[in-house]
Amino acid sequence: MKKRLITWAVMALLSMPAFSQQSDAKRINAYSDTIAQLNQTGTWFDATPAPTGKKAKNVIIIIGDGMGTAQVYASIVAQKGNSNFLRFPFSGFSRTYSHNRYTTDSGAGGTAITCGRKTDNYHIGMLPDGTPIPSFLSLLHDMGLATGFVVTSSVLDATPASTYAHVPYRKMYDTISLQMAQCNYDVMIGGGVHNFRPENRKDGLNPIDTLLKKGYEIAYSLEDMKKSKAKKLVTFFCENYYGPIAPGRDPILAEGTKKALEIVSKNPNGFALMIEGSQIDWACHNNDADYMRAELADFETMLRIVLDFAEKDGNTLVVVTADHETGGLVLTSGDIDKGKNECKYTTDGHSGVMVPVFSFGPGAEKFSGVQNNIDLLPKVFNIMGRKTYLN
Ligand SMILES: [Zn+2]
Repeated sequence: MKKRLITWAVMALLSMPAFSQQSDAKRINAYSDTIAQLNQTGTWFDATPAPTGKKAKNVIIIIGDGMGTAQVYASIVAQKGNSNFLRFPFSGFSRTYSHNRYTTDSGAGGTAITCGRKTDNYHIGMLPDGTPIPSFLSLLHDMGLATGFVVTSSVLDATPASTYAHVPYRKMYDTISLQMAQCNYDVMIGGGVHNFRPENRKDGLNPIDTLLKKGYEIAYSLEDMKKSKAKKLVTFFCENYYGPIAPGRDPILAEGTKKALEIVSKNPNGFALMIEGSQIDWACHNNDADYMRAELADFETMLRIVLDFAEKDGNTLVVVTADHETGGLVLTSGDIDKGKNECKYTTDGHSGVMVPVFSFGPGAEKFSGVQNNIDLLPKVFNIMGRKTYLN
């Protein structure tokens, strides 16, 4: 335990040359009772197992980056009654503000969801004062569960990075790639090989070698990934970022999710996955409704795969939410029968509105109502009956 904390502390020190380490406990406490309580008790979460109800063995947290209520409704209409969002028995809302901004970025938003703590915009996996914090994948990995993530962006992008990295600035890709190579998750699916290649790095290090030495198979194409029988798998399907799903991108979200489930579901202790539809955000930044519709349709396909698995399995908690809304999307009119929406965007940035939360499986009812984004993870640990490593 101590060794792990020291490792984080060293990693944080190494990765923040320009970052003030001045502790500001007051500022943190003022924003969050949870953090104040945790600082006093020395525990991350009140993870007392639920007194009643079935425990979840597995958890899948799905993030639609930039996916607000309007984006979800656009998908529900577009699917003409067959939307997978309609399969969730419970839903609620999540408040997304970050520690220092009304409107969050994906760094602080991802960190809130995956690590359960508010932080400043652009931070990844650390508190505003630079203290590194573990993600649910990191904690559950240490408890012997299989872990991994699937994204439609670079594996180094803010949301996936929030599950394994601890840096004060989300674009520190050289550092983030070193931290990914050390995280030991079973399966990491996305793009973004650029910063792993020594010739593209300032330090000349070779994190690809580290991954290979740790026993990972690296798939450079979708076909290689599908054929792989590896127990530990990383994919680098593109140099930096994937293109949009229409036209052209491989069905990485659907096929990656299938492959990740195949790998992690073999662990008898259970598993934890983070899956992100990354480009709903990019489409909405571009105010491009057709791009957004295609990414949402791709997201629906992934949801079908996950929900079919969870339905059959019966022990898997699925939570779908967003880190924030993007585009200030308004659906001014449409045609329900034809599955058409008239989309108007009010910004090319993020907005501060609440985002939806959908839940399925054991304990799903706990996610109804209006909650804070940092409340999601304590609920997950509670439903899994898991104490955290500091308890
Ligand atoms: Zn964005």
